[in-house]
Amino acid sequence: MTQKKSELLFKKSQDVFVGGVNSPVRSFKGVGGTPRFITRGQGPYVWDADGHRLIDFCGSWGASVLGHIPNVLAAAIARTAKRGLSFGAPTELELELGQLIQKAFPSMARMRLVSSGTEAVMSALRVARAATQREVIVKFSGGYHGHVDSLLVKAGSGAMTLSSPDSAGIPASLAQKTRVLPYNDLEAVRELFRREGQSIAAVIVEPIAANMGVVSPKEGFLEELRALTTANNALLIFDEVITGFRVTYGGAQTVFKVTPDMTCLGKIVGGGMPLAAYGGRRDIMEWVAPLGPVYQAGTLAGNPVAVAAGIATLTTLKARSPYKALEKMTAWFTGEIEEAAREAGQSIRINRVGSMWTLFFNNAPVVDLTSVQRSNTDLYAAFFHSLLERGIYLPPSAFEAAFITTTHTRAILKRALSAIQKTFSKLPGS
Ligand code: PLP
Repeated sequence: MTQKKSELLFKKSQDVFVGGVNSPVRSFKGVGGTPRFITRGQGPYVWDADGHRLIDFCGSWGASVLGHIPNVLAAAIARTAKRGLSFGAPTELELELGQLIQKAFPSMARMRLVSSGTEAVMSALRVARAATQREVIVKFSGGYHGHVDSLLVKAGSGAMTLSSPDSAGIPASLAQKTRVLPYNDLEAVRELFRREGQSIAAVIVEPIAANMGVVSPKEGFLEELRALTTANNALLIFDEVITGFRVTYGGAQTVFKVTPDMTCLGKIVGGGMPLAAYGGRRDIMEWVAPLGPVYQAGTLAGNPVAVAAGIATLTTLKARSPYKALEKMTAWFTGEIEEAAREAGQSIRINRVGSMWTLFFNNAPVVDLTSVQRSNTDLYAAFFHSLLERGIYLPPSAFEAAFITTTHTRAILKRALSAIQKTFSKLPGS
């Protein structure tokens, strides 16, 4: 499969953008080779600059749950754009989206719309620190919450792929306020709270981890995080940037029936446009300006075109409620992949929740960052490239989630399976 145009564009881009890209994992550094430049997407497909149609399992890292540019989104965006792109003043559309979010996430009694998941998390931490008058933040290794200074410590996929789990440029004094514990290790959380429970402002967690690949919370993990934070007057923040509107309409907090104090949303909430949100208990959120002393603002916050895309996405999801069908389709698909791996003698593990999944070349259960890191990344890279040659686009990193959209039909997935079977039989044994 020729990729001359992508190669040329990548070469030129390296003279303009750092590493040729605007976000590191896009550079293919984790799998080697040249990133495909994408010219368009439609439903479950993207087309690269050399004209190849690829079945897309990346889906803008989970944002496009309805597939690329469904008509309802294209229409909403066009209609809204005609009326002006940005006003820096409130609009009725923002209210509509906020109400939709609030109905789906009743824990977000008050919220703010922002422009990226990073911004949502960064703001939530600032509010949590102010509201508790404490400074320590607890996170879990392999959890990624955007490139927030306090949280770029053992930060999952992107950072891990580049073998630099800790970023340069973060003051040691700030990193010292962050505690990192193994995901799913309740004893470690209990011990930390025993030692310094009175200094902990908040525990932030991906309620279903998806940035070291998909890793489910162990039974009772989220419940006990809730109990421990409450008992110590610390806040529990769910980072549902991936899981919100993905695992079900009301996110992981609905699935697990655990109510956090604060929630961060992104990706699907903007239907692929730059939009995110954070919110939580009213008494906590009222620390934010203009009601309170925590400053947080944004010229493009609640941008009307992004908001229109969010409304179109959420109303479609609400009306169609595709979650059971997505789950069934993804369970069937990943089951078939496991079967194909068995037949080819490949040791793999697939972790899946709803329509998000990760294939690890690993012969033991994957439950935390340590077990994730035992996976064979060379095999993943070979798997990735062999599939790319056959027209399948997986996330270009062994430590990311892959996603199924409502447009991935059984016929399309069967085509992907056939490519996966051929690929397994050609890979060296794991
Ligand atoms: N939180 C989680 C769980 C994420 O997966 C991401 C991005 O992948 C973020 C936060 C940061 O979002 P953004 O990339 O929009 O800044």
